[in-house]
Amino acid sequence: MADCIFCKIVKGEIPCAKVYEDDAVLAFDDIHPMAPVHVIIIPKKHIATLMDVDANHTEVMGQLIAVAQSVAKIKNVAAGGFRAVVNCNADGGQVVFHLHMHLLGGRKLDDQLG
Ligand code: AMP
Ligand code: ZN
Repeated sequence: MADCIFCKIVKGEIPCAKVYEDDAVLAFDDIHPMAPVHVIIIPKKHIATLMDVDANHTEVMGQLIAVAQSVAKIKNVAAGGFRAVVNCNADGGQVVFHLHMHLLGGRKLDDQLG
């Protein structure tokens, strides 16, 4: 997707503070962190929203969760705890329409989700 900011990060056209990378997934620090640890985890393949995860890419959510576990260890929040969030479409607060998981931690997070 030519205009997608996260596809540009995957292609190296926009810099990022990389936390983890493999063949299928990239993780990088959020540019506007909401917590001491705030990492964005994306599939390298462009998928717009959670609602677009279908039979063509059944592996993707499992890959994101596996990388979330790796990132939690890298950032030393695995034992203390963290929150993994996927925003979907307008009411879900999605701004960047390339599927991504937020991993938030490093402080006690609010009890309320929204
Ligand atoms: P969402 O509201 O779920 O679409 O979240 C998009 C997230 O991407 C926000 O937390 C932004 O701060 C973050 N973001 C946007 N552009 C960049 C960028 N160039 N590098 C890192 N994070 C970004
Ligand atoms: Zn994209």
